[in-house]
Amino acid sequence: MEVVHSIEEIRREVRNLRNRSATIGFVPTMGNLHAGHLSLVKDAAASCGAVVVSIYVNPMQFGPTEDFSTYPRTLEQDLELLREAGTITVFQPDDEAMYPHGTTGQTFVEVPLMGEMLCGAARPGHFRGVSTVVARLLNIVQPDLAVFGKKDYQQLAIIRRMVADLAIPVEIVGGETIRAEDGLALSSRNRYLTAEQRRQAPCLYASLLEAAEQVRAGRQAFAQIEQAALQELRGCGFQPDYVSIRRQQDLQPAGAGDRVLVVLAAARLGQARLIDNVEIVL
Ligand code: AMP
Repeated sequence: MEVVHSIEEIRREVRNLRNRSATIGFVPTMGNLHAGHLSLVKDAAASCGAVVVSIYVNPMQFGPTEDFSTYPRTLEQDLELLREAGTITVFQPDDEAMYPHGTTGQTFVEVPLMGEMLCGAARPGHFRGVSTVVARLLNIVQPDLAVFGKKDYQQLAIIRRMVADLAIPVEIVGGETIRAEDGLALSSRNRYLTAEQRRQAPCLYASLLEAAEQVRAGRQAFAQIEQAALQELRGCGFQPDYVSIRRQQDLQPAGAGDRVLVVLAAARLGQARLIDNVEIVL
């Protein structure tokens, strides 16, 4: 497994891979890898001859009061996991490689509307940071396919839109959410939970399943279903930002005739802000 740091090196490495493999898959991450990330690597390997994984904690997507400085960085352990998963190349750039003009003077990419709603409303500037870094990574690596987790549903939708709007020549694939046995979606931020909060945390997925069940049963009083889920979350000790039933396609609020839906939630529990979602096709 090759681990490279500069744009020049990763481009050279990708050129070499292209001589050996017809297709290159790419999985961008912020490190502190778990089974969710490894599942995306597996998805990429299932349709591509070579897989490139990037590890970069992107400062531009963190707000000034968010956890950039404390975000877990576990590089040696990550590399070990990737070696076992059969990753061929790891791109681990530093800030100088990713932001030669700094994070404020840099050209940015912003997807309107979709980037401002839901988590975008609670975290201003977050999705601008995400789309900008992903656009840059896609231009650096130039993969045929890139895999993003459905766990970050809004992020996946925004990246799909950005790639379509800017005609970036890459196929975007959504990977299924990997969960702990009790239903909690795996996340690097779960480690901010105390033992007691960790016991309460599966309530997030349980509330979403309950809401999804109601929609599947034909209830169309979406606002009431959302309110009930918010109440349930508060009862479990969460401070919810939102629970919202949306259309998968553009994340606009669902109307009575819509059939391809997703119920999304973000909620704070102690130091952690957790997100999750459940897809619904009627
Ligand atoms: P992160 O390192 O948190 O930026 O995540 C990197 C990629 O892994 C993103 O595409 C995430 O959506 C994805 N991911 C994170 N957690 C999970 C999970 N539990 N299941 C599947 N994919 C995930």
